[in-house]
Amino acid sequence: AAHASWLELSASSLRHNVEVFRALEAVAAGPRRRLGAVLKGNAYGHGFRQTLPLVHAGVDLLYLIDPLDALAVRAFEREQGLAPRQVLVLGAVAPEEAVALAREGVDAVVADRSWEEAGALLRAAKLERPLRAHVHIDTGLGREGFTLEQLPRDTGFLSEYRDVLQVVGVLSHFANTEDVTEQGYALAQLDAFETGMARLVAQLSPARPLERHIAASAASLVLPRARYDALRVGIALYGLWPSVETRLSARLVLGEVPALKPVLTWKCRSQAVKWLPAGSYVGYGCTYRCSEPTRIAVLPVGYFDGYPRLVSGKAHVLVNGRRCAVLGRVMMNHLIVDVTRATTDERPVTATLLGHDGEESVSAEALATWAQTIHYELVTRLGAHLRRVVV
Ligand code: PLP
Repeated sequence: AAHASWLELSASSLRHNVEVFRALEAVAAGPRRRLGAVLKGNAYGHGFRQTLPLVHAGVDLLYLIDPLDALAVRAFEREQGLAPRQVLVLGAVAPEEAVALAREGVDAVVADRSWEEAGALLRAAKLERPLRAHVHIDTGLGREGFTLEQLPRDTGFLSEYRDVLQVVGVLSHFANTEDVTEQGYALAQLDAFETGMARLVAQLSPARPLERHIAASAASLVLPRARYDALRVGIALYGLWPSVETRLSARLVLGEVPALKPVLTWKCRSQAVKWLPAGSYVGYGCTYRCSEPTRIAVLPVGYFDGYPRLVSGKAHVLVNGRRCAVLGRVMMNHLIVDVTRATTDERPVTATLLGHDGEESVSAEALATWAQTIHYELVTRLGAHLRRVVV
């Protein structure tokens, strides 16, 4: 649509962020440690289709939530003649989907006993190679995975199905490495991880050492002991700090704060620019009244696109390098901003909803804070329908 907003993805910023983690590897890691990109949530709202080609060459591993995305990675690789990357589906896999993943050489996470059924189906499918499986240990998040209570009691079926389910890895996920600077709970999770892994190894005696991974962005940066064999980096690859606390911890742990560069900019062209006389109301509910003559821009962006309604009365956008307050309520497809001082006439303007314009910027953190949420939610809710262009 002519009147719509669009997202710009900076390829160079993404490459830069990958390098930040590569450098981290070089400093702190053994040669076997590998870097993985998390592309779930439509690549954190950046667009799975647009982001995949940008990260494929720079990382060793791709982590997805949806089995269909894993198949899309394989299709992309075939199309482009690229060597297949190790791909791991972090999310739930239906037994019938397991067969398709095995055929495509995609790894899956075994997190519960539903995999017994998948094992039977895989055996019936008489595949040339087993499905590569990573066992999820719930070390304290209370989400998916086998708890220490369940290990090794509930994982016996893995020995039974070893011809079709080849355990190659073991993983877990932290509950609060992001929003705290004190890592006591994370260290307890690491201890549980070690205990769980030892039980699994005793039970399965795998032919090769298991690939161990637990660190997402925050732990990769600030908890070196958690790095093990692979890093599962999501938010930070897109140039966003997991939290203020992670940034503080980075200064302490790494001695410096690595420069992450936000990949995403959100822009739009105005749909109309016009003067409203003093005393005019703006938007649903007549919640804003112009105290003086006001030049407004009507922007074709609303909560349908992922611009949160809760920011009404708090947010600003950028026009010609100036902050322009959002007036009244955010609507489904419209946003009204005050451009009285940002422009000199009524010609259309370009507004930056997220990103830099001149000296000013609106960060995902700021917009999320105005909306009483976190930047993870804000970016993953950016509409899948929005046009995304790589710049
Ligand atoms: N690993 C798992 C299992 C996840 O659920 C997530 C995201 O929540 C990540 C890794 C990446 O986390 P982050 O975006 O904080 O790097």
